[in-house]
Amino acid sequence: MGKDYYKILGVDKNASKEEIKKAYKKLAKKHHPDLNKDEGATEKFKEISEAAAVLSDDQKKQQYDQFGSDSFKHGSGPSGFNFSDFDFSSFGGDFGDIFDHLGDIFGGGGGGRRRSSHRKGADLRADVTVTLEEVYSGTKKKLKIRKNESCEKCDGKGGTGLETCSTCHGSGRMTDSRRTPFGIFQTTSVCRDCGGSGEMIKNVCHKCDGSGVVVKEKTLEIDIPEGIEHGSRLRLTSEGEAGYRGGRAGDLFVFIHIEEHEVFKREDNDILLEMPISIIQASLGAEIEVPTLEGKAKLKISAGTQTNTVFKMKGKGLPYLHSYGTGDQLVKVVVKTPDKLSKNQEKAMKDLAKELGEEVNPQKSFFKKFF
Ligand SMILES: [Zn+2]
Ligand SMILES: [Zn+2]
Repeated sequence: MGKDYYKILGVDKNASKEEIKKAYKKLAKKHHPDLNKDEGATEKFKEISEAAAVLSDDQKKQQYDQFGSDSFKHGSGPSGFNFSDFDFSSFGGDFGDIFDHLGDIFGGGGGGRRRSSHRKGADLRADVTVTLEEVYSGTKKKLKIRKNESCEKCDGKGGTGLETCSTCHGSGRMTDSRRTPFGIFQTTSVCRDCGGSGEMIKNVCHKCDGSGVVVKEKTLEIDIPEGIEHGSRLRLTSEGEAGYRGGRAGDLFVFIHIEEHEVFKREDNDILLEMPISIIQASLGAEIEVPTLEGKAKLKISAGTQTNTVFKMKGKGLPYLHSYGTGDQLVKVVVKTPDKLSKNQEKAMKDLAKELGEEVNPQKSFFKKFF
């Protein structure tokens, strides 16, 4: 024995789709649990919705006519009826509101809008400053953050024992009807008592007041990969705030700032450095010591080097974040002229000038070129 869907809707076996919709609409308004607080209204509403969903769907109607309502018992709904099989859009515009509620009533099966009582925790942001040396080698940073963590007393659930919210009867929504000269106006809002979940916790956890979360300080160790860029963002999945009543935790976003270095400048993965050299070193050539991110290194200056010449130290830059290899260190040498000469030094310079002849006067060749 199955249910008589035609009888439930009060329509004839040969009723048209239009007639079925009309009958359903009338009954739905009468029995909708938001409007009808009688005991059994929800059950009745489920029944007529089920009947309407089947009879307005050609294929389901045929199945029903042939095998009866028991043929739908494979479903997952509370009445053995799988609501998600039905396309409510076929009911047309007017039915939209009513069918919005079906998911609620059938336990969220048909695209219901009932809010889950588990809500995702908020994402968090933290800022970490690292030095260029740390970017070179990669590092770990300890980060202390205060955030919502799952309450260990109730395991994040907020308490024990769930019961249907008595304010909204489990729908998660409240409908207000106002009578005006133009008719009855209805507004639907999220239930204030259960926050839209349709459920209330019976034994509320006292440690977290039912939220399932408590504020705690947590120390995290952040892995900063070598070669990271200024302003980049690391995402630590689930290290944000714990979710409300056992909901998914948010993520933590760590923004990376790179401290300005006293002598080094970064340009992508290259390191720029300005290095003073003496006139003698520039003239005769020299092997000088220069700082690099991994310590001191030797750099060969060729004889006759002009000021502002850039020497490339291959592979002494920063490692690439997403690929193999490293940048270079580019050393710009700046020739320093001695600004205080002793008598002897002055004499030596003048001797040198004599020795060099005209070459000591670069303006001469300059003027020769242009004038
Ligand atoms: Zn708790
Ligand atoms: Zn409620």
